Amino acid sequence: MPVTAIVGAQWGDEGKGKITDLLAQEADVVIRYQGGNNAGHTVVNQHGTFKLHLVPSGIFNPKALCILGPGTVVDLTALTHEMATLEDAGITTASLRVSDRAHLLMPWHVALDRLDERERGRQKLGTTGMGVGPAYADKVARHGIQAYEIRDERRFRARVAHELETKNAILERFGDEPLDAKAVADEVLSAAATLGERIVDTLALVEHALARDAAILLEGQLGAMRDLDWGIYPYVTSSNPLAGGASVGAGIPPRLITRVIGVVKAYSTAVGEGPFPTELHGREADELRERAGEYGATTGRPRRVGWFDAVAPRHAHRLNAFTEIAVTKLDVLDVYERIPFCAQYELDGRRTCDMPPTAALERVRPCYETLAGWLEPITGMHDRAGLPKEARAYLTRIEQTVGAPIGMVGVGPERTATLL
Ligand code: GDP
Repeated sequence: MPVTAIVGAQWGDEGKGKITDLLAQEADVVIRYQGGNNAGHTVVNQHGTFKLHLVPSGIFNPKALCILGPGTVVDLTALTHEMATLEDAGITTASLRVSDRAHLLMPWHVALDRLDERERGRQKLGTTGMGVGPAYADKVARHGIQAYEIRDERRFRARVAHELETKNAILERFGDEPLDAKAVADEVLSAAATLGERIVDTLALVEHALARDAAILLEGQLGAMRDLDWGIYPYVTSSNPLAGGASVGAGIPPRLITRVIGVVKAYSTAVGEGPFPTELHGREADELRERAGEYGATTGRPRRVGWFDAVAPRHAHRLNAFTEIAVTKLDVLDVYERIPFCAQYELDGRRTCDMPPTAALERVRPCYETLAGWLEPITGMHDRAGLPKEARAYLTRIEQTVGAPIGMVGVGPERTATLL
């Protein structure tokens, strides 16, 4: 059985939720390996439309074990709310487990995230304000609290009080309200009590799954362009969405990850700040955004939209060695007679298809080729060969420029609207 990692190959929001939901039907274990509730994976299936923030998309398969891996940061209160929403819709969350080594995203991380964005002013990062960056900062600075620490209530309360001494000093220095140690500890302990025995050593579960040759799915958040090391720093997330991050963040030895699926939207979108060479503005942008429904799943913010930029997924492929790519939302392009397609950038008078670092990326000019549109709806189509020849040519151009074969094509939001 393969261990499959699902990785975003652009700026995030590539439609990983749908691809994960599809593959999770056959999976025994689904693991989120990085990020926190800043994620917003939209899943449309027979139960309805769901926006998952922390819970792995495998939750809709009652037979799959769903794990928040040690590489995630977990806001226990947000998690219990999300679980309650799912339960209310008739989806059981009994199979959810949280790694006892995952770091807790505490209320002060949310307060510090908002403070940081405010103080950055015009240089703001455009975070979701959920506290994810500060939670990872504390983890790296060795101030983090791991999930297992809630088991010793007295010690946990002391840790909260100790951490708040410095956090409150910062909040007050910038004119924000300090947090009350008792209220914070009560809130987190109450959420932990709701989770009960679900906070466990997930390595043992994963090891057992590997030993019985279970199908394991590793679910990434955001995309390669937001990777802490390889993305558009500083406009990045504070963890590694790449397949390399999946190994550490889920607790799977690297050589056991056998399949890496890069999810690529048929055009480009970005939420938050940072360079985005093919970005559209004005009426053209509004039309594409409306047609595609490009609004943030977590924040509702209108997403920045642009034409397909092959340099980004090519960069992602160099870092992930995708065994295949999944192209999503091809149907959104149904109405265009001609489709601009960026295969290269011009940087300081030279053409390149390598991804430059952030400051240089801000200077590049996208070099467009124009591909023919197909001007007919493709949502009902059942196989790739049946697509209009212009749509097939568009997909071929994606394969040529990214360098990986296409294994799946999304032609509508439904799980079933995917050509395999
Ligand atoms: P994720 O965070 O990578 O899962 O991406 P989002 O869930 O934020 O965005 C994907 C959006 O596109 C969701 O609303 C999906 O239902 C929708 N979607 C996914 N695949 C397709 C597709 O092939 N066609 C269309 N029209 N919508 C899709």
